[in-house]
Amino acid sequence: MEGPEVDALSFRLSALAGRQWVDRIDVPTHRWQANVLLKHCSGKRINQIYSQGRWLLWNFSHGVSWAIYPLRRWRWSAQWTDADKPVVPDWLDNISPLSKDIGRRPLLRIMLENGGCLTLSGRPLLLVLPTEKLYRHPSLTGLGPKLSDEFLTDEIWEKRVRVLAGDKTISQAIMDESVVAGISNQTKCEMLFAGGIHPAARIGSIDSRRMREILVTARRRGDVLCRASLEGRGARDLPGNVYDRAGEPCGRCGTNILAERCGRDGLWSWYCPNCQRLPRQPMLFGVEPVAAPLPDIEPVNRVPLK
Ligand SMILES: [Zn+2]
Repeated sequence: MEGPEVDALSFRLSALAGRQWVDRIDVPTHRWQANVLLKHCSGKRINQIYSQGRWLLWNFSHGVSWAIYPLRRWRWSAQWTDADKPVVPDWLDNISPLSKDIGRRPLLRIMLENGGCLTLSGRPLLLVLPTEKLYRHPSLTGLGPKLSDEFLTDEIWEKRVRVLAGDKTISQAIMDESVVAGISNQTKCEMLFAGGIHPAARIGSIDSRRMREILVTARRRGDVLCRASLEGRGARDLPGNVYDRAGEPCGRCGTNILAERCGRDGLWSWYCPNCQRLPRQPMLFGVEPVAAPLPDIEPVNRVPLK
């Protein structure tokens, strides 16, 4: 699951449950030891539901937050459960990317004051934390902005890539959650194809123009994915140029697409070896030569250096 999909999920959950009071929370006792902490959130109001990268964050009115991460498959579903409660018109219309069917392994059921009910199924990671310490948690503290954040300008994107991941390959930099959070391997491959950049290219070998081009591709893809997600479709349904297409001809030049672990990010990269050539990279044991001239060194004790 990609960041924009979690974004769409948070948007829909927020429309259904944001600012609602929680009547009750049910947790299967055999599934979680944290159920006391979770149940503690019943009787409280849901202040905000939003996303950061792939993290789905819930803030409650008593200063407690949930941070939920789709480590394995998860499913969010919405139902009406209480026949006595007045039914809010249209509450169950248009709920994608939530479903109406509860998954096979229900984990958490949140009954809302309006009679609606949200169920989380599957095996996500769930942290219950004081809201004030949320961003001090090791998993969240170094998280970069998401693609849809308005302050992520071209300049800030390029600066983050070069400063935070300057010694890495472009593949590693894109997948680095501290640079920008929530970009998937699939989006990475399509970004690099759009920019004509080899997955193992060093950041120093990529100029500003191409650095901006790949951000434009990522943004456009993120917007499309978020909208598709709200209509019930996923990343797999989106057209792609290279991802998961090893052996097929490239749409630009007809060369067969390759899949290799060449990005050194531990993930496979699909790319066109003709459109995405590796630039000549003078490298000694993986260390980039210093591009900028070194500053002058002040002579010690004002004795001129010879
Ligand atoms: Zn090609």
